[in-house]
Amino acid sequence: MFSNLKEQPADKILALMQLFKDDPRPTKIDLGVGVYKNAEGVTPVMRAVKAAEKQLWEQETTKSYVALAGDPDFADAMIGLVLGDAVARDTVSAAATPGGTGACRQAFEMVKMANPDVRVFVSNPTWPNHLSILKYLGIPTVEYRYFDAESRGVDFEGMLADLADVKPGDVVLLHGCCHNPTGANLNLTQWQAVVDVLLKTGGVPMIDIAYQGFGDGLEEDAAATRLVASSVPECLIAASCSKNFGVYRERTGILMAVAQDKGLKGLTQGTLNYLNRQNYSFPPDHGARLVTMILNDPALRKEWADELEAVRLSMLGLRQQLADELQRLSGSDRFGFLSQHRGMFSRLGTTPDMVERLRAEHGIYMVGDSRLNIAGLNAQTVPILAKAIVDTGI
Ligand code: PMP
Repeated sequence: MFSNLKEQPADKILALMQLFKDDPRPTKIDLGVGVYKNAEGVTPVMRAVKAAEKQLWEQETTKSYVALAGDPDFADAMIGLVLGDAVARDTVSAAATPGGTGACRQAFEMVKMANPDVRVFVSNPTWPNHLSILKYLGIPTVEYRYFDAESRGVDFEGMLADLADVKPGDVVLLHGCCHNPTGANLNLTQWQAVVDVLLKTGGVPMIDIAYQGFGDGLEEDAAATRLVASSVPECLIAASCSKNFGVYRERTGILMAVAQDKGLKGLTQGTLNYLNRQNYSFPPDHGARLVTMILNDPALRKEWADELEAVRLSMLGLRQQLADELQRLSGSDRFGFLSQHRGMFSRLGTTPDMVERLRAEHGIYMVGDSRLNIAGLNAQTVPILAKAIVDTGI
């Protein structure tokens, strides 16, 4: 039976990680995988997470199951973090999921249950896992223009023109902040225009927010999600705690369904519970519990927010340093977009050949679409990267 299986495509980013590992050059630089690293190249356990874990070890008396949707306190804390008071609490149903990926997966399954003919509009480009999960579920996708190859910003006119084709019952997948893989984002005026298109077309927004706190700040990064959620009749929000709490391997995320029609809450909550039951029964609890403890304890919350802010500022500093160094070496402003982009990633906007040359000639590893992880850099490696980019003729 197993011989009937087909080879599945290897994950490109994980394959790149292996290549990096096998590269003997001591000067190699890994700008591939999407994990935050500090200046020493370490992905640290955040201080507040360590403190919460210690408390939890002392206080936890059982590892029995929690609930199909996870701990309601986790839902409350995350709804507060992401949505603030933008919508009334009784319009939101929510379920804990294994990471933001789990939240996306459940969201896609839910919209297919609600509308078997659903099409999901995705930015070109988007996080590749969106596309592969949608393909796996047999949900058709429609690309909307997003990245402008010339300016490396958003092709906003193209985006709006493509979203005009949305039909009622279609889903429009949007990155709440820190777009992955491009780093290019909409401003709030542009988000308002997207809301207007959604209201006009009847498309249902699904917001994937995986980097809250990595862009312009915790509140600022949630502003677009709050605007959308408070403006449209229905929306879905898939939030990840992997990056902003640094709990990647604990698989901590949440799916929220917001419906202004409060009568729908029982139905959406029941569906979220059902989907958890079918796919893995109870969602993981450890990471969710740590996040809840941190968000609900003012001292831990401050410790966490301070550390997250330092992470954000260090990435912004690296962006500026890289843009400045490239300006100095190339004598042109064409790399200024690096300081405008937000989040952990920027798409350089060069060809796969150039990306391969950076790897072969300079030991610099980035994803083939020229996405680089800013957090893979430090003050010493920025000038090395800048020189390699200019020497390669990018
Ligand atoms: N959405 C986007 C856009 C992401 O970049 C990621 C992380 N790579 C996720 C969702 C989900 O991450 P996780 O499942 O690790 O929480």
